Amino acid sequence: MNSICLVEDEQKVAAFICKGLEEHGYKVTTAGTGSAAKNLLKGEAFDLLILDVMLPDTNGIELCRQVRLTDTDTPILMLTALDQIQNKVSGLKAGADDYLVKPFHFSELLARIEALLRRKTANAKTEEHVFTFEDLKLDTWSNIVERAGVPITLTAKEYTLLELFMRHPNKILSREYIAEQVWKIDFDTGTNFIDVYINYLRKKIEKGFKNKLIHTVIGMGYILRANK
Ligand code: CA
Repeated sequence: MNSICLVEDEQKVAAFICKGLEEHGYKVTTAGTGSAAKNLLKGEAFDLLILDVMLPDTNGIELCRQVRLTDTDTPILMLTALDQIQNKVSGLKAGADDYLVKPFHFSELLARIEALLRRKTANAKTEEHVFTFEDLKLDTWSNIVERAGVPITLTAKEYTLLELFMRHPNKILSREYIAEQVWKIDFDTGTNFIDVYINYLRKKIEKGFKNKLIHTVIGMGYILRANK
């Protein structure tokens, strides 16, 4: 199921889009402000973002620019009530992939979303199979993991966990997101198995090295980043 983050402050419009997309099998999470959207995006990765240009605390173009600082892959569709070429140009310059002027027919929105997701899938098929971060390397074809050229043996779950971090470097991954992606389950706050696995993984990839790679972000989750 493709997940979509919809950032739209007009509740009627948000409800209309949300209902329509859910009927077409999408999982939709909505945010009414730029700051709510930023919080959502910190903890979760989406397959596509829909950003309204006019938001109470920021504008969608600025939000798009900020998202693109750390995320260059997720397709972004901008919505605006203003049929102004300038908005379109600014939105696309800020890294949006497509643009839709309100009011629009739902079928138009759906067609744009499907096209963006198809393009994303096509890109994913040709994507690099080797991920590197600092001196860490993970090859998704051979499943070989190395740090500074030294092979590291991981269990299947540790490998999947590391791959998730390597695919989202410099991004905070919440325990909820990790549980869903690696274990395919809903996270139960009463358990600490994710922390346990993170520690297993840390021991294997950090032992004997000066630089830590996986960092705890208190209250938020974990992040793969260089220790600088
Ligand atoms: Ca708006």
